[in-house]
Amino acid sequence: MNSPNIIELRGITKRFGAVTANKGISFSIPAQTIHAIVGENGAGKSTIMKILYGFYTADEGEIFVDGARRDIRSPHDAIALGLGMVHQHFMLVPPMTVLENIVLGAEPGSAVKVDFRQAAERISQLSRDFGFDLDPHAKIEDLSVGQQQRVEVLKALYRGARILILDEPTAVLTPQEVEEFFKILRAMRQQGKTIIIITHKLSEVLSLSDNVTVMRDGQVVGGKPTQDTNAPELARLMVGREVLLRVEKPPAHPKDVVLKVQNLRCGTKLQDVSFDVRAGEIVGIAGVEGNGQTELIEVLAGLQRINGGSCHLQNHDLGKLSARQIKELGIAHIPEDRHRRGLLLDFNLTANAILGTHYRRPAVASGLGLLDEKANSDKTARLIRDFDVRPPNAALPARALSGGNQQKLIIGREFDLQPKLLLVSQPTRGVDIGAIEFIHRKLVELRDAGTAILLVSAELEEVLSLSDRVLVMYQGRVVGELDPQHAEQEEIGCLMTGGKQA
Ligand code: ADP
Ligand code: MG
Repeated sequence: MNSPNIIELRGITKRFGAVTANKGISFSIPAQTIHAIVGENGAGKSTIMKILYGFYTADEGEIFVDGARRDIRSPHDAIALGLGMVHQHFMLVPPMTVLENIVLGAEPGSAVKVDFRQAAERISQLSRDFGFDLDPHAKIEDLSVGQQQRVEVLKALYRGARILILDEPTAVLTPQEVEEFFKILRAMRQQGKTIIIITHKLSEVLSLSDNVTVMRDGQVVGGKPTQDTNAPELARLMVGREVLLRVEKPPAHPKDVVLKVQNLRCGTKLQDVSFDVRAGEIVGIAGVEGNGQTELIEVLAGLQRINGGSCHLQNHDLGKLSARQIKELGIAHIPEDRHRRGLLLDFNLTANAILGTHYRRPAVASGLGLLDEKANSDKTARLIRDFDVRPPNAALPARALSGGNQQKLIIGREFDLQPKLLLVSQPTRGVDIGAIEFIHRKLVELRDAGTAILLVSAELEEVLSLSDRVLVMYQGRVVGELDPQHAEQEEIGCLMTGGKQA
């Protein structure tokens, strides 16, 4: 039954200066399987796969393909052995067509001799075989991100890849696109391909892979057939300690209505939205990204203008106020794009810790209008401690922190406002599993301290586990309200894509 190993890595070590990104990595991949590699950011996953693909050369260790030891010195060598790799950032030329991108990339220097008609036929055939549904003559710039990713996969197949390496392919996809993409991967396995997928989403590992290798801190810390493991075990291996995957959440005790939204409209994206959020509850918004969630949060934060309807915080009409006035009323905002809206990346942590209230007391000393350095450094030290920001060095620019630690700093800063209402978008996007647990716990604490929380997340599981009530948005409207304790994923999925509530 056991298929022979198509890939075997033995004792691979790779150093970048003082950092050892891979330390004696050994594992094998049976042919015609889907093999997941999981681990937190910085664990060394991309490095080991770039070594296999010939981008980097290992300092130590050996690579076997089809049972024979190979010297893979460049991607060219890797391609010749039947390897293909799709990177986190696509390498396509936007004004050119699917066909041109695939053919020109595959046959450097010989473009003049390419028979484009024959190539188009082969691409259409591959596209049909695996269910890609791509038009060879479409321009890359007109395609969605999900379609562009399929072009990258198709490009590898066109070059004859039988072993496909995918580095965090789902990070850029919506839940619907992920399902379609997984169908394609399963079809590829069915037809004899071997797939290596890097991810840090445990649900993806469990639903897709045959085997899983877990990495932590440059080493392999576990490897198993997927059916012999489970999410808590994988999380513990990845993080190196027990991790609570489910949010421990006592029932909410909602009090008075804090936010009242009535027939709200904004541009074309927000059509007609009405709902309330009460003190002491988390109301979650589920939906495929791009259905008005961003506009809703930005309108409430005073970052976009209202076209119709109203929103009130207690008696205050938010439509008449500036972003700063809204903040002063007690509305905190954890934005979806932390680089654009949440942080000044080149400024130090202290500057970022007071961002948004930097013009007034306590950031500014009374009378003189000068920053109160002592107060600000005390506050930053407190946020760093209470929100476990690492490394704990207030003098670092925000840019030097990982995504998860940047997010913890923003969360600390916004929580510190003791808001009446918290607007929070994609709170754990790009954040490691250990920090996700921490952020979820803090959100529940804030709820229990009496804050009204409006949560938007593209992660359905996150919305369901954190929220006390769930609203589903579709094409700028709220199309359903559900009790997260009893809602079926299927029912929500149906509402999210325009179906009716049962
Ligand atoms: P992962 O993909 O698991 O997030 P990586 O393989 O990208 O991890 O990185 C592992 C470690 O190696 C990290 O500490 C990272 O900063 C470091 N690293 C990766 N690539 C380079 C590079 N080209 N130069 C220096 N350090 C690197
Ligand atoms: Mg990586």
